Amino acid sequence: MTTKLLQFVNQKKEMPKKRSGLNRLKDFNEIYNNFNKVEAKKQASRCSQCGIPFCQVHCPLQNNIPDWLKLASEDRLKEAYEVSQSTNNFPEICGSICPQDRLCEGNCVIEKGFESVTIGRVEKHITDTAWEKGWVQPVKPNKEINKSIGIIGSGPAGLSAAEQLRKKGYKVEVYDRYDRPGGLLIYGIPNFKLEKYAVERRTKILKKGGVIFHNNFEVGKTKSFNYLKEKHDAILIATGVYKARELDISKLNLDQIIPALNFLIASNKKGLGDKVPEFDNGKLNAKDKNVVVIGGGDTAMDCVRTAVRQNAKSVTCLYRRNKENMPGSMREVSHAEEEGIKFSWLSVPISFKSINNHINIKVAKVVLDKTDSSGREMPKTMLNNTHLLKADLVIKALGFNPENLPKLFNYKNLKVTNWGTIKVDHKTMMTSDKGVFAAGDIVRGASLVVWAIKDGRDAADSIHKYLLNKNKINLEKKVSVF
Ligand code: FAD
Ligand code: SF4
Ligand code: SF4
Repeated sequence: MTTKLLQFVNQKKEMPKKRSGLNRLKDFNEIYNNFNKVEAKKQASRCSQCGIPFCQVHCPLQNNIPDWLKLASEDRLKEAYEVSQSTNNFPEICGSICPQDRLCEGNCVIEKGFESVTIGRVEKHITDTAWEKGWVQPVKPNKEINKSIGIIGSGPAGLSAAEQLRKKGYKVEVYDRYDRPGGLLIYGIPNFKLEKYAVERRTKILKKGGVIFHNNFEVGKTKSFNYLKEKHDAILIATGVYKARELDISKLNLDQIIPALNFLIASNKKGLGDKVPEFDNGKLNAKDKNVVVIGGGDTAMDCVRTAVRQNAKSVTCLYRRNKENMPGSMREVSHAEEEGIKFSWLSVPISFKSINNHINIKVAKVVLDKTDSSGREMPKTMLNNTHLLKADLVIKALGFNPENLPKLFNYKNLKVTNWGTIKVDHKTMMTSDKGVFAAGDIVRGASLVVWAIKDGRDAADSIHKYLLNKNKINLEKKVSVF
């Protein structure tokens, strides 16, 4: 039976059921249940099939949202899956962790007075069903191409490029310094936002499709960048950004002050069943501690929510602006509030003092003053308005900058921007070095998974074109279908 579309008048917007704040603190599992078939169909049927679908315009992958919503509303999930996966390598991952309120759903123009269509969770339902039914299959290229691509970094940019290039028939080898593929999908983003099995099944199926993974392989240490250049016909750099931004305060080298990613990686590794000595000895563990997280972005939200699940005594988030000016997704802030996190808005630490095992943080109030060139009010620290805050663990979550890649790779041909990101020709994603491409956060700066996927796909297309041009005669002889 089919469901009629345009049901937004009769059918309210609903998300899948969310576990209560208290209940979800007991574990690291996803906080939302999944839609069942009937719920997904009802929500999909709210779409009004706009002539100009702004949801699609504001999806970085330009996903064909109205089409797969229509197919889902008609129970044609296999076709919906085909449409969905044609523009997105990991739709179920995006459905879980895209900040939809700022992208597709935030721009859904269903009709004035009605809430947007629940796009992300329907997208997840479609591909979760595809996994259940066995529709997600390893890549089977029509022909093998005797050219190989080396990809440095197995985050979403590297993985999406790997899949796209393998589909065309290239030999693809992915190098990562970590012991598991997935980048921040596996070691940054906590399990309660994205369950790790969803990432692991993706890397497993890529392996089955012929992608070769070299884990514990740090380019610049294990082997030089030049070694990879000589081995492969083209290179993609997708190394992300990992240099934690620092507070401009002295005495930051105290043991109890740690970078966000060290804390999150330890927690994710523990969840995956690894031995993590620094977690077990308490250094990277919030249990029974008064925890203060400094920052207001998504990483800060992930830290406060991880700390509260590790049974911290108290968790406070210090942020120098107000709630309305937080850079992260409002949805994540409201999840943190539901989970009992205390927010101290318009507050900034100005000094730390270690006393026994505690830290006294001197916190100054902030007022929002004149606007900057982007129109955003600038925080002004009120040094005459301070108070003390006691903490056992302080987590710095102020964002990330790129590492100095030309230096790490000992390869001066790579040009960087003023921000330290890799310079590329944005039409081709090629760097200043011929045959070397770059994608994801290392090009954009800290961004989003969906943008990394988009960049990985674009880079794969460009690598293909580059190799076609370079080896025209050879490739045309060997390959009949691309
Ligand atoms: P990464 O995912 O960072 O992957 C890069 C990989 O390169 C890593 O595996 C790294 O080990 C490897 N690497 C680096 N240097 C080398 C080297 N020299 N040799 C070999 N390998 C190397 N985005 C969202 O859309 N939604 C979210 O909810 C969200 N939550 C986030 C939470 C946290 C805590 C963080 C830090 C980020 C979050 N993001 C989120 C952002 C998102 O994770 C990134 O934008 C995305 O992962 C970038 O993808 P990437 O492939 O460019 O890099
Ligand atoms: Fe929305 Fe992200 Fe899916 Fe695009 S990929 S439709 S932005 S959830
Ligand atoms: Fe459907 Fe909303 Fe997209 Fe319009 S904007 S096509 S109503 S999901």
